[in-house]
Amino acid sequence: MFVREILKNKDTYNGKIEATVFFVNLFLIMVHIVLMVCYVLLKHEFMIYVNILSILFYLSCYKFCVLHKNTYISFAFIEIWIHMLLAMCAFGWHASFQNWIFGLVAAAFLPAFNTDTQKNNYKKTFIFTGLMIFTYFLFAVLICTIPFKISIEVPDIMLRFIFTFNNMVAFFTIIMFAITYTYNKERKELELTRKADFDELTKIYNRHALEEIGSNIINKCKELNKPFNVAILDIDFFKKVNDTYGHASGDIVLQDLAAILRTYSNNNIIVGRWGGEEFVIIGSYDIRYNDFVDLLKRLKTKVGKNKFVLENKKKINITISIGSAQIFDFKTLQEAVSIADNNLYKAKHSGRNKVIG
Ligand code: GH3
Ligand code: MG
Ligand code: MG
Repeated sequence: MFVREILKNKDTYNGKIEATVFFVNLFLIMVHIVLMVCYVLLKHEFMIYVNILSILFYLSCYKFCVLHKNTYISFAFIEIWIHMLLAMCAFGWHASFQNWIFGLVAAAFLPAFNTDTQKNNYKKTFIFTGLMIFTYFLFAVLICTIPFKISIEVPDIMLRFIFTFNNMVAFFTIIMFAITYTYNKERKELELTRKADFDELTKIYNRHALEEIGSNIINKCKELNKPFNVAILDIDFFKKVNDTYGHASGDIVLQDLAAILRTYSNNNIIVGRWGGEEFVIIGSYDIRYNDFVDLLKRLKTKVGKNKFVLENKKKINITISIGSAQIFDFKTLQEAVSIADNNLYKAKHSGRNKVIG
Protein backbone atom coordinates (compact mmCIF):
# COMPACT_ATOMS: atom_id res chain seq x y z
CA MET A 1 0.00 0.00 0.00
CA PHE A 2 2.69 2.40 1.21
CA VAL A 3 5.05 1.39 -1.64
CA ARG A 4 2.25 1.88 -4.20
CA GLU A 5 1.60 5.35 -2.79
CA ILE A 6 5.29 6.23 -3.12
CA LEU A 7 5.55 4.91 -6.68
CA LYS A 8 2.41 6.83 -7.68
CA ASN A 9 4.13 10.17 -6.98
CA LYS A 10 7.51 9.25 -8.45
CA ASP A 11 7.14 11.52 -11.49
CA THR A 12 7.13 14.75 -9.48
CA TYR A 13 10.47 16.11 -8.29
CA ASN A 14 9.72 15.61 -4.56
CA GLY A 15 8.03 12.30 -5.29
CA LYS A 16 11.19 11.11 -7.05
CA ILE A 17 13.37 12.05 -4.07
CA GLU A 18 10.89 10.37 -1.72
CA ALA A 19 10.90 7.16 -3.76
CA THR A 20 14.71 7.14 -4.07
CA VAL A 21 15.22 7.78 -0.36
CA PHE A 22 12.65 5.11 0.53
CA PHE A 23 14.32 2.40 -1.55
CA VAL A 24 17.87 3.41 -0.57
CA ASN A 25 16.86 3.28 3.12
CA LEU A 26 15.12 -0.06 2.62
CA PHE A 27 18.22 -1.47 0.91
CA LEU A 28 20.56 -0.22 3.67
CA ILE A 29 18.27 -1.55 6.42
CA MET A 30 18.24 -4.97 4.72
CA VAL A 31 22.05 -4.95 4.48
CA HIS A 32 22.30 -4.15 8.20
CA ILE A 33 19.79 -6.85 9.13
CA VAL A 34 21.84 -9.50 7.29
CA LEU A 35 25.03 -8.25 8.96
CA MET A 36 23.35 -8.14 12.36
CA VAL A 37 22.35 -11.81 12.01
CA CYS A 38 26.05 -12.56 11.34
CA TYR A 39 27.13 -10.57 14.42
CA VAL A 40 24.51 -12.32 16.57
CA LEU A 41 25.79 -15.70 15.38
CA LEU A 42 29.32 -14.55 16.16
CA LYS A 43 28.16 -13.09 19.51
CA HIS A 44 29.97 -9.86 18.60
CA GLU A 45 28.18 -7.53 21.02
CA PHE A 46 29.90 -4.31 19.95
CA MET A 47 28.98 -4.71 16.27
CA ILE A 48 25.40 -5.70 17.20
CA TYR A 49 25.02 -2.28 18.88
CA VAL A 50 26.62 -0.52 15.90
CA ASN A 51 24.10 -2.23 13.60
CA ILE A 52 21.12 -1.42 15.80
CA LEU A 53 22.17 2.24 15.75
CA SER A 54 22.52 2.14 11.96
CA ILE A 55 19.09 0.54 11.50
CA LEU A 56 17.51 3.10 13.87
CA PHE A 57 19.18 5.89 11.88
CA TYR A 58 17.71 4.71 8.56
CA LEU A 59 14.30 4.01 10.10
CA SER A 60 14.05 7.39 11.80
CA CYS A 61 15.26 9.68 9.06
CA TYR A 62 12.81 8.77 6.28
CA LYS A 63 10.80 12.02 6.31
CA PHE A 64 13.75 14.15 7.43
CA CYS A 65 15.85 13.06 4.47
CA VAL A 66 13.18 14.00 1.95
CA LEU A 67 13.14 17.54 3.33
CA HIS A 68 16.90 17.82 3.90
CA LYS A 69 18.28 15.74 1.05
CA ASN A 70 21.88 16.97 1.22
CA THR A 71 22.16 16.62 5.02
CA TYR A 72 20.78 13.09 4.73
CA ILE A 73 23.32 12.16 2.03
CA SER A 74 26.17 13.48 4.22
CA PHE A 75 24.90 11.59 7.30
CA ALA A 76 24.36 8.41 5.30
CA PHE A 77 27.94 8.60 4.00
CA ILE A 78 29.31 9.19 7.50
CA GLU A 79 27.30 6.20 8.77
CA ILE A 80 28.60 4.01 5.94
CA TRP A 81 32.21 5.10 6.54
CA ILE A 82 32.05 4.56 10.31
CA HIS A 83 30.43 1.18 9.79
CA MET A 84 33.01 0.16 7.19
CA LEU A 85 35.90 1.19 9.44
CA LEU A 86 34.57 -0.58 12.54
CA ALA A 87 33.65 -3.71 10.57
CA MET A 88 37.11 -3.75 8.97
CA CYS A 89 38.71 -3.49 12.40
CA ALA A 90 36.55 -6.38 13.57
CA PHE A 91 36.93 -8.68 10.57
CA GLY A 92 40.07 -7.48 8.82
CA TRP A 93 40.70 -6.60 5.19
CA HIS A 94 39.64 -10.07 3.97
CA ALA A 95 35.97 -9.51 4.79
CA SER A 96 35.91 -6.99 1.92
CA PHE A 97 33.99 -4.22 3.68
CA GLN A 98 36.28 -1.72 1.93
CA ASN A 99 34.76 -2.82 -1.42
CA TRP A 100 31.57 -0.94 -0.53
CA ILE A 101 33.61 2.08 -1.64
CA PHE A 102 33.54 0.76 -5.23
CA GLY A 103 29.76 0.82 -5.02
CA LEU A 104 29.84 4.37 -3.63
CA VAL A 105 32.15 5.59 -6.41
CA ALA A 106 29.30 4.90 -8.85
CA ALA A 107 27.29 7.56 -7.00
CA ALA A 108 29.62 10.09 -8.65
CA PHE A 109 27.40 9.84 -11.76
CA LEU A 110 24.44 11.32 -9.96
CA PRO A 111 25.47 15.00 -9.56
CA ALA A 112 25.09 15.20 -13.38
CA PHE A 113 21.34 15.39 -12.76
CA ASN A 114 21.40 17.61 -9.72
CA THR A 115 18.69 20.17 -10.38
CA ASP A 116 19.64 22.38 -7.41
CA THR A 117 22.83 23.52 -9.17
CA GLN A 118 22.87 23.43 -12.92
CA LYS A 119 26.55 24.20 -13.38
CA ASN A 120 29.93 22.82 -12.32
CA ASN A 121 28.51 19.45 -11.28
CA TYR A 122 31.64 17.82 -12.74
CA LYS A 123 33.64 19.45 -9.92
CA LYS A 124 31.48 17.61 -7.37
CA THR A 125 32.09 14.35 -9.25
CA PHE A 126 35.85 15.03 -9.22
CA ILE A 127 35.96 15.87 -5.49
CA PHE A 128 33.68 12.95 -4.61
CA THR A 129 35.65 10.31 -6.52
CA GLY A 130 38.93 11.73 -5.17
CA LEU A 131 37.57 11.50 -1.63
CA MET A 132 36.48 7.90 -2.18
CA ILE A 133 39.89 6.81 -3.49
CA PHE A 134 41.58 8.63 -0.60
CA THR A 135 39.27 6.87 1.90
CA TYR A 136 40.06 3.48 0.39
CA PHE A 137 43.80 3.91 1.00
CA LEU A 138 43.23 5.64 4.34
CA PHE A 139 41.33 2.55 5.49
CA ALA A 140 44.20 0.35 4.36
CA VAL A 141 46.57 2.37 6.59
CA LEU A 142 44.14 2.72 9.53
CA ILE A 143 43.38 -0.96 9.74
CA CYS A 144 47.06 -1.67 10.48
CA THR A 145 47.61 1.23 12.85
CA ILE A 146 44.30 1.74 14.68
CA PRO A 147 44.96 1.72 18.46
CA PHE A 148 41.85 -0.12 19.71
CA LYS A 149 41.24 -3.73 18.83
CA ILE A 150 37.78 -5.20 18.52
CA SER A 151 38.71 -8.07 16.25
CA ILE A 152 37.52 -11.59 16.94
CA GLU A 153 38.08 -15.04 15.55
CA VAL A 154 35.69 -15.64 12.65
CA PRO A 155 35.04 -19.14 11.28
CA ASP A 156 36.24 -19.51 7.70
CA ILE A 157 32.74 -20.21 6.34
CA MET A 158 31.36 -17.05 7.96
CA LEU A 159 34.24 -14.97 6.59
CA ARG A 160 33.56 -16.33 3.08
CA PHE A 161 29.87 -15.49 3.45
CA ILE A 162 30.58 -11.91 4.62
CA PHE A 163 33.17 -11.50 1.83
CA THR A 164 30.64 -12.60 -0.83
CA PHE A 165 27.85 -10.59 0.72
CA ASN A 166 29.93 -7.37 0.84
CA ASN A 167 31.01 -7.75 -2.79
CA MET A 168 27.41 -8.39 -3.81
CA VAL A 169 26.38 -5.19 -2.00
CA ALA A 170 29.08 -3.31 -3.97
CA PHE A 171 27.99 -4.84 -7.32
CA PHE A 172 24.33 -4.21 -6.60
CA THR A 173 25.04 -0.56 -5.72
CA ILE A 174 27.02 -0.08 -8.96
CA ILE A 175 24.19 -1.65 -11.00
CA MET A 176 21.54 0.50 -9.28
CA PHE A 177 23.51 3.71 -9.85
CA ALA A 178 24.09 2.73 -13.51
CA ILE A 179 20.36 2.12 -14.02
CA THR A 180 19.43 5.37 -12.24
CA TYR A 181 21.97 7.30 -14.38
CA THR A 182 20.67 5.82 -17.65
CA TYR A 183 17.05 6.38 -16.64
CA ASN A 184 17.68 10.02 -15.68
CA LYS A 185 19.67 10.62 -18.87
CA GLU A 186 16.86 9.25 -21.05
CA ARG A 187 14.27 11.33 -19.19
CA LYS A 188 16.36 14.49 -19.53
CA GLU A 189 16.89 13.95 -23.27
CA LEU A 190 13.20 13.30 -23.80
CA GLU A 191 12.39 16.48 -21.89
CA LEU A 192 14.85 18.51 -24.01
CA THR A 193 13.44 17.09 -27.26
CA ARG A 194 9.96 17.98 -26.07
CA LYS A 195 11.07 21.52 -25.24
CA ALA A 196 12.79 21.93 -28.61
CA ASP A 197 9.96 20.51 -30.72
CA PHE A 198 6.78 21.50 -28.90
CA ASP A 199 5.17 24.86 -28.46
CA GLU A 200 5.13 25.91 -24.81
CA LEU A 201 1.56 27.27 -24.81
CA THR A 202 -0.33 24.85 -27.04
CA LYS A 203 1.77 21.67 -26.57
CA ILE A 204 1.67 20.88 -30.28
CA TYR A 205 4.61 20.99 -32.73
CA ASN A 206 6.33 24.37 -33.01
CA ARG A 207 7.56 25.95 -36.24
CA HIS A 208 11.03 24.42 -35.92
CA ALA A 209 9.60 20.89 -35.65
CA LEU A 210 7.14 21.55 -38.49
CA GLU A 211 9.97 22.65 -40.77
CA GLU A 212 11.96 19.54 -40.00
CA ILE A 213 9.03 17.13 -40.45
CA GLY A 214 7.83 19.11 -43.50
CA SER A 215 11.19 18.84 -45.25
CA ASN A 216 11.22 15.06 -44.67
CA ILE A 217 7.74 14.75 -46.18
CA ILE A 218 8.71 16.99 -49.14
CA ASN A 219 11.73 14.76 -49.82
CA LYS A 220 9.55 11.66 -49.64
CA CYS A 221 7.04 13.25 -52.06
CA LYS A 222 9.91 13.92 -54.47
CA GLU A 223 11.06 10.33 -54.20
CA LEU A 224 7.56 8.96 -54.84
CA ASN A 225 6.73 11.65 -57.41
CA LYS A 226 3.63 12.72 -55.48
CA PRO A 227 2.31 16.23 -54.73
CA PHE A 228 2.66 17.87 -51.32
CA ASN A 229 -0.45 18.97 -49.36
CA VAL A 230 -0.28 21.84 -46.94
CA ALA A 231 -2.69 24.31 -45.30
CA ILE A 232 -2.46 27.36 -43.08
CA LEU A 233 -5.19 28.20 -40.57
CA ASP A 234 -5.80 31.61 -39.01
CA ILE A 235 -8.34 32.62 -36.35
CA ASP A 236 -10.81 35.27 -37.56
CA PHE A 237 -10.76 38.56 -35.65
CA PHE A 238 -8.58 37.09 -32.93
CA LYS A 239 -7.38 40.52 -31.91
CA LYS A 240 -10.96 41.25 -30.86
CA VAL A 241 -10.94 38.23 -28.52
CA ASN A 242 -7.79 39.57 -26.85
CA ASP A 243 -9.12 43.13 -26.71
CA THR A 244 -12.55 42.14 -25.34
CA TYR A 245 -11.71 39.29 -22.93
CA GLY A 246 -8.00 39.80 -22.22
CA HIS A 247 -4.79 38.14 -23.34
CA ALA A 248 -5.17 35.21 -20.89
CA SER A 249 -8.55 34.35 -22.46
CA GLY A 250 -6.89 34.57 -25.89
CA ASP A 251 -4.34 32.04 -24.69
CA ILE A 252 -7.13 29.68 -23.58
CA VAL A 253 -8.69 29.89 -27.05
CA LEU A 254 -5.31 29.04 -28.63
CA GLN A 255 -4.87 26.08 -26.28
CA ASP A 256 -8.38 24.75 -26.91
CA LEU A 257 -8.05 25.19 -30.67
CA ALA A 258 -4.73 23.29 -30.55
CA ALA A 259 -6.49 20.52 -28.59
CA ILE A 260 -9.08 20.24 -31.38
CA LEU A 261 -6.33 20.23 -34.02
CA ARG A 262 -4.53 17.47 -32.14
CA THR A 263 -7.55 15.20 -32.55
CA TYR A 264 -7.01 15.43 -36.33
CA SER A 265 -3.33 14.54 -36.20
CA ASN A 266 -2.46 10.97 -37.17
CA ASN A 267 0.01 9.18 -39.47
CA ASN A 268 -1.24 11.20 -42.43
CA ILE A 269 -1.88 14.58 -40.81
CA ILE A 270 0.67 16.69 -38.96
CA VAL A 271 -0.40 19.83 -37.12
CA GLY A 272 1.66 22.55 -35.47
CA ARG A 273 1.72 26.20 -34.44
CA TRP A 274 3.30 28.33 -37.15
CA GLY A 275 3.32 31.44 -34.94
CA GLY A 276 0.82 33.76 -33.19
CA GLU A 277 -2.68 32.53 -34.00
CA GLU A 278 -1.65 30.70 -37.17
CA PHE A 279 -1.40 26.93 -37.43
CA VAL A 280 -0.05 24.75 -40.24
CA ILE A 281 -1.49 21.41 -41.28
CA ILE A 282 0.57 19.05 -43.44
CA GLY A 283 -1.04 16.15 -45.28
CA SER A 284 1.17 13.17 -46.10
CA TYR A 285 1.71 11.76 -49.62
CA ASP A 286 -0.76 8.98 -48.79
CA ILE A 287 -3.73 11.33 -48.57
CA ARG A 288 -5.60 12.56 -51.70
CA TYR A 289 -5.92 16.34 -52.00
CA ASN A 290 -9.76 16.19 -52.11
CA ASP A 291 -9.80 14.19 -48.88
CA PHE A 292 -7.37 16.68 -47.36
CA VAL A 293 -9.66 19.62 -48.24
CA ASP A 294 -12.72 17.71 -46.94
CA LEU A 295 -10.90 17.17 -43.65
CA LEU A 296 -10.10 20.90 -43.46
CA LYS A 297 -13.77 21.74 -44.04
CA ARG A 298 -14.83 19.34 -41.28
CA LEU A 299 -12.25 20.96 -39.00
CA LYS A 300 -13.55 24.45 -39.79
CA THR A 301 -17.15 23.36 -39.01
CA LYS A 302 -16.08 21.67 -35.77
CA VAL A 303 -14.19 24.76 -34.57
CA GLY A 304 -17.15 26.99 -35.53
CA LYS A 305 -19.52 24.88 -33.39
CA ASN A 306 -17.17 24.59 -30.42
CA LYS A 307 -17.84 26.64 -27.29
CA PHE A 308 -14.57 28.07 -25.98
CA VAL A 309 -14.79 28.49 -22.21
CA LEU A 310 -12.83 31.57 -21.12
CA GLU A 311 -11.24 32.57 -17.80
CA ASN A 312 -14.46 34.11 -16.45
CA LYS A 313 -16.39 30.95 -17.49
CA LYS A 314 -17.90 32.89 -20.39
CA LYS A 315 -18.43 30.74 -23.47
CA ILE A 316 -17.64 32.15 -26.91
CA ASN A 317 -17.63 30.97 -30.50
CA ILE A 318 -14.86 31.70 -32.96
CA THR A 319 -14.41 31.05 -36.64
CA ILE A 320 -11.31 30.18 -38.61
CA SER A 321 -10.16 30.70 -42.19
CA ILE A 322 -7.99 28.15 -43.96
CA GLY A 323 -5.91 28.42 -47.13
CA SER A 324 -4.66 25.16 -48.59
CA ALA A 325 -2.49 24.17 -51.55
CA GLN A 326 -1.35 21.13 -53.44
CA ILE A 327 2.20 21.71 -54.58
CA PHE A 328 3.80 19.87 -57.48
CA ASP A 329 7.12 21.62 -57.95
CA PHE A 330 8.82 21.00 -54.64
CA LYS A 331 9.93 23.79 -52.42
CA THR A 332 10.78 24.28 -48.79
CA LEU A 333 7.91 24.16 -46.30
CA GLN A 334 8.26 27.93 -45.92
CA GLU A 335 7.59 28.45 -49.66
CA ALA A 336 4.80 25.85 -49.70
CA VAL A 337 3.10 27.62 -46.77
CA SER A 338 3.35 30.99 -48.50
CA ILE A 339 1.47 29.49 -51.51
CA ALA A 340 -1.26 28.26 -49.11
CA ASP A 341 -1.12 31.70 -47.46
CA ASN A 342 -2.25 33.29 -50.75
CA ASN A 343 -5.43 31.22 -50.48
CA LEU A 344 -5.80 32.20 -46.81
CA TYR A 345 -5.61 35.82 -47.93
CA LYS A 346 -8.43 35.12 -50.42
CA ALA A 347 -10.50 33.45 -47.66
CA LYS A 348 -9.99 36.48 -45.43
CA HIS A 349 -11.02 38.90 -48.14
CA SER A 350 -14.10 36.99 -49.23
CA GLY A 351 -15.91 36.92 -45.90
CA ARG A 352 -13.71 34.68 -43.64
CA ASN A 353 -14.92 31.41 -42.00
CA LYS A 354 -14.07 29.40 -45.11
CA VAL A 355 -11.58 27.01 -46.67
CA ILE A 356 -10.02 28.02 -49.98
CA GLY A 357 -7.68 25.66 -51.75
P1 GH3 B 1 -8.02 38.37 -39.07
O1 GH3 B 1 -9.40 37.82 -39.12
O2 GH3 B 1 -7.74 39.27 -40.23
O3 GH3 B 1 -7.00 37.31 -38.93
O4 GH3 B 1 -7.96 39.29 -37.79
P2 GH3 B 1 -7.13 39.05 -36.50
O5 GH3 B 1 -7.56 40.04 -35.47
O6 GH3 B 1 -7.19 37.64 -36.10
O7 GH3 B 1 -5.67 39.28 -37.06
P3 GH3 B 1 -4.37 39.92 -36.52
O8 GH3 B 1 -3.21 39.22 -37.20
O9 GH3 B 1 -4.43 41.39 -36.68
O10 GH3 B 1 -4.30 39.58 -34.99
C1 GH3 B 1 -3.65 38.50 -34.48
C2 GH3 B 1 -3.61 38.67 -32.99
O11 GH3 B 1 -3.13 37.49 -32.39
C3 GH3 B 1 -2.68 39.78 -32.58
C4 GH3 B 1 -1.93 39.20 -31.39
O12 GH3 B 1 -2.04 40.00 -30.24
C5 GH3 B 1 -2.62 37.90 -31.15
N1 GH3 B 1 -1.70 36.89 -30.67
C6 GH3 B 1 -0.59 36.39 -31.27
N2 GH3 B 1 0.00 35.46 -30.49
C7 GH3 B 1 -0.76 35.38 -29.36
C8 GH3 B 1 -0.66 34.61 -28.16
O13 GH3 B 1 0.24 33.79 -27.96
N3 GH3 B 1 -1.61 34.77 -27.21
C9 GH3 B 1 -2.64 35.67 -27.39
N4 GH3 B 1 -3.55 35.76 -26.44
N5 GH3 B 1 -2.74 36.42 -28.49
C10 GH3 B 1 -1.83 36.29 -29.46
MG1 MG C 1 -2.87 36.29 -38.23
MG1 MG D 1 -6.39 36.18 -37.37
